[in-house]
Amino acid sequence: MSGLGKGILAASIARILKTHGYKVAPIKFDGYLNVDCGTMNPFRHGEVFVLDDGGEVDMDFGTYERFLNTSITSKSSITGGKIFRLLLDKERKGEYLGRDVQMVPHLTSEIKERVKDVGEESKADIVLVEVGGTVGDIENGYFIEAMRQLSLDEDTLFIQLTYVPSLSPGEQKTKPTQHANRLIRSLGVKPEIVMCREQEPLSKEAREKIALFCDVPQENVFDDPMVPTVYALPQMLEKQDFYNSIAKRFHLRKTKVPVGIWNRMVKRIIRPSKRKLRVGIVGKYTAVKDAYVSVKEAIVHASAANNVFSEVVFVESTEIEKQGTKLLSNLDAIIVPGGFGKRGIEGKIAAIRHARKNKIPFLGLCLGLQMMVIEYARDVCGLEGANSGEIDKATPYQVIALLPEQMRIEEKGGTMRLGSYPCEVKPDSRAFACYKKKLIHERHRHRWEVNPQYVEQLEGAGLVISGKSPNKGIVEMVEWQESFGIGTQAHPELKSRLEDPAPLFVGVIKAALERRKEKKKKLEKKE
Ligand code: GLN
Repeated sequence: MSGLGKGILAASIARILKTHGYKVAPIKFDGYLNVDCGTMNPFRHGEVFVLDDGGEVDMDFGTYERFLNTSITSKSSITGGKIFRLLLDKERKGEYLGRDVQMVPHLTSEIKERVKDVGEESKADIVLVEVGGTVGDIENGYFIEAMRQLSLDEDTLFIQLTYVPSLSPGEQKTKPTQHANRLIRSLGVKPEIVMCREQEPLSKEAREKIALFCDVPQENVFDDPMVPTVYALPQMLEKQDFYNSIAKRFHLRKTKVPVGIWNRMVKRIIRPSKRKLRVGIVGKYTAVKDAYVSVKEAIVHASAANNVFSEVVFVESTEIEKQGTKLLSNLDAIIVPGGFGKRGIEGKIAAIRHARKNKIPFLGLCLGLQMMVIEYARDVCGLEGANSGEIDKATPYQVIALLPEQMRIEEKGGTMRLGSYPCEVKPDSRAFACYKKKLIHERHRHRWEVNPQYVEQLEGAGLVISGKSPNKGIVEMVEWQESFGIGTQAHPELKSRLEDPAPLFVGVIKAALERRKEKKKKLEKKE
C-alpha cells in the first residue's frame, strides 16, 4: 500500500543486506505514464531527484542513495511511461512484425529484461525491487504480473508491506492485512514476509492472526515501527532479527554487523548535544512535506557531523513578500533552494538581502545562487531592476541568462543541463575551505546561468566567483567576502549522505555555530 514509507523500508532492507556484505541493486517501479519525474510539479509528487547520469527520478532514489551511500543509475527507475515508450518504439520499428503486441507477454517481458539487466550490469548479489502504488491498482498490475513471472526464473522472495490500524489503543485490526494478502495471492504472488506499519507495536494476537491468515511463520511477521529518525529503521529491524529471515531463505552468510559511522551518526540524531540551531528554508513549496526532502536531509547529515541539532524552519517566500523579513527572525542560517518560475521570487531576494546585511550564514542552491547574484547586482552594483530572463524578459539587466545550448530547445522533458558536471574551485575561497578540493563534481538541473557579460562587473563590485566549470566557464559558485554566503549552481543536497555529508551544508552549519558562539561572547562581555 502506498504512503506507508515503502521507500524507506526498501532502503532499510537494502542497507541491512549491504552491512552484511552483499551488493544490492535497488529498482523502483512507478506506474504513471510519465517517462520520468522531470515534468512533474513538486506539489503533486514531491521533490524531483537527479542522478549522476542526469536521470530525473522519484525521490525514493534519494533515500536509496542516502541509505546505501552509493550512486545509482537511471536504469533502476522503471516507469510505466518508459516501458510503454520502449514497447511502442519497437512496434513501430517492426520488431513484432506479424504479431499483436500484448501486455502479457510483451510488456511484462520488457520489464523482466530491465530488472535482469540492472542486476547483471551492477554485478549485484541481490536485486531489490520496490513496486510503487497499492495492490489492486490498475497502474501497477502489469508490474506485479512481471514479478510473478520473474519468480519462475529467479530465486525470488516477496515482502508485503501492510497497514495495521488501531481502532483504540490495544485494539489492532488485522482484517485489512488479511484482505490485502488474499488479493495479492490471487495475483499469483505469495508474500513470505509481512511488514506491518502500525500506530502501536504489534500485539501478540495480531501477530498470530496475521501469520495464520497470511500463511507465514510468526517470525516472518515484522513491526515496521515509528522511528525518531528514518536512519534508525535498519537498526530497529535488525533488533527483530530481520536479516535472519532473509538469510535463511536465500542461504546467506551469517555475519556480525560492524558498528560503523552510520550508527554513531544515528546516535547523534536521536540524542543530539544541547546545542540547537534554527535553519530556515525559504521556498515556495514549503506546505508540501516532500518538496525539499534532500535539502532537509542534507541539513540533518551536516548537523550530525557538527554534533548539533538543527530545527528546520520552512518559510514561504510569498509570505515574506507580504509580511517582510520579520518572518526570518531568530534564524541561525538561511537556505534558498532550487525552484522555477516567478512566484515568490522577490521574497527569496529579500531573504538573501536580510542574510547578507545581518551576516547570517547563507546557502543558495541553483535558483538560490541566481537570486544571490540578482540581489548583489541590484544592491551593490546599482543595477536597478536586474533580474533573470526566466522571471522578467524585459529586465534592463539580464544578469541571469539562458544557457546558450538551451536556446533552441523546445521540448520540456529531460532537456535541462542535467546530472553531474565538474567545477573548479577557487583556492582560498570559502567554497574551497568546505570542499578542500580543487576539482569537484555535483549534480545539476537548470536552464539558466550567470550571464557571462556581467561577471567582470559583479567581481569588480566584490562578489567572489569561487567556482567555474572547467571548459565552458559557466559560473558554478559565488560567495560573499564579508560573511559566510555561498551560492552554487548545482544541487549538492542530492549527493549528501549520512556517512558523507555535503561539504557546503557542513560549512553553513559550522558557520552558524560560530556565529552563535561569537554572539554569546559579545553578550557576556556586555554583562
Ligand atoms: N529555474 C532555474 C533554472 O532553470 C533554476 C533551476 C533550479 O533551481 N533547479 O536555471
